Amino acid sequence: VTACLARIEATEPKLHAVLHLAGEAALAEAARLDAAGPDPDKRLWGVPVLVKDAICTKGLPTTCGSKILENFVPFYDATAVAGLKAAGAVILGKANMDEFAMGSSTENSAYQTTANPWDATKVPGGSSGGSAAAVSSGQCFGALGTDTGGSIRQPASFCGIVGIKPTYGRVSRYGLVAYGSSLDQIGPMTRSVEDCAAMLTAIAGHDAKDSTSAPRDVPDYEADLAAWAKQGDLKGVRLGLPDEYWGQGVDAEVLDCCRAAVDAARGLGAEVVRVSLPHTPYAVATYYIVAMAEASSNLARFDGVRYGFRDAAATDLAGLYELSRAKGFGPEVQRRIVIGTYVLSAGYYDAYYRKAAQVRRLIRQDFLDAFASCDVIVGPTSPFTAFGIAEKTEDPLQMYLSDIFTISLNLAGLPGMSIPVGLGAQSGMPVGLQLFGPAFDETRLLCTAKAVM
Ligand code: GLN
Repeated sequence: VTACLARIEATEPKLHAVLHLAGEAALAEAARLDAAGPDPDKRLWGVPVLVKDAICTKGLPTTCGSKILENFVPFYDATAVAGLKAAGAVILGKANMDEFAMGSSTENSAYQTTANPWDATKVPGGSSGGSAAAVSSGQCFGALGTDTGGSIRQPASFCGIVGIKPTYGRVSRYGLVAYGSSLDQIGPMTRSVEDCAAMLTAIAGHDAKDSTSAPRDVPDYEADLAAWAKQGDLKGVRLGLPDEYWGQGVDAEVLDCCRAAVDAARGLGAEVVRVSLPHTPYAVATYYIVAMAEASSNLARFDGVRYGFRDAAATDLAGLYELSRAKGFGPEVQRRIVIGTYVLSAGYYDAYYRKAAQVRRLIRQDFLDAFASCDVIVGPTSPFTAFGIAEKTEDPLQMYLSDIFTISLNLAGLPGMSIPVGLGAQSGMPVGLQLFGPAFDETRLLCTAKAVM
């Protein structure tokens, strides 16, 4: 904990990854653990971690990267945070993010822009960019991120670390500030696959406080991975390469690194097959309709009355709502509330939201069909490596298109992972390979990832 706090102090002037530091509390907790002595039942005993600021932490600010929650201090822990604490982890503080997890670069944070530790002129990805930069730079050993449309996997890819978005329902969303409730999942971001398995074991499982959490037993991911590693090959594993992910629009340096990783997997005995996810071209449009619709509804609770920011100039109730929301929410959040309200409104619902829900079903079916002929689907996490700060902020559509390979998975509710597979020959920046698995088969993803890394 002491070493991580020193690392944070040394790197924060450049990175801006941390929003709230809980240094004293972390040191006190570490001292308490030291005094009690190591506990073999606590798998994360003394491990310093950061938590994305969208996830509630008792007694620690939880702003979700927004001015509207500037003074919000939850009086309870999210279930995932409680799981980390129960496993002995020490919370160092909260990580920066795009406001309400809306973005792909962490530039939409109302507070600060996080830099990529590999090149401070580049973005760390988003929306969990603070978590990714912190893990990559050694500020902590693991972090929680959230992934609604790629927000764990894309920043993991941009910062050269491991990130997993578990199956929808695998990790409780209780205490996570909701963005798109049917898409959101909390997951670990770490430097190794083993650390990822250990953190996932600590946070997964059914939770009566989240009606969408799955009532299924949690495997011991860490033990399963260790058991698999004894054999360590990929014999009998069929890797499916979707045509839609391996061609047009992907930078050559990204394809090169991803192909080398697939070749390495082949060398370990994996069989490589071609598959197709034919509805991929509709994923971005479908995702942004569904996500914005759900966001417009979820964000209705921030009305200047119950939480956070309230504008003092208001003279009546409608004015209080208007002014508090106009001043509390940033431009990207307002854009999404407006579009989300529009696609849900009478007369437009059938043309937009209902259509999107139907296409979502087809996208999910694509995956189920592909898994008939392969065990794990692989492709690039992002078509390009980390882009420059301010490079895409003027054009929201360009920013949305950067999610092209990550969002289908959330629409389908399936688990996915990004692992580092080298540095791009042109950019010198990290490249991520993405692995998709069948529902609730995180173990298969972790073992395949370990083999390829
Ligand atoms: N970039 C996507 C968005 O802006 C995904 C964000 C996320 O996964 N939270 O919606």
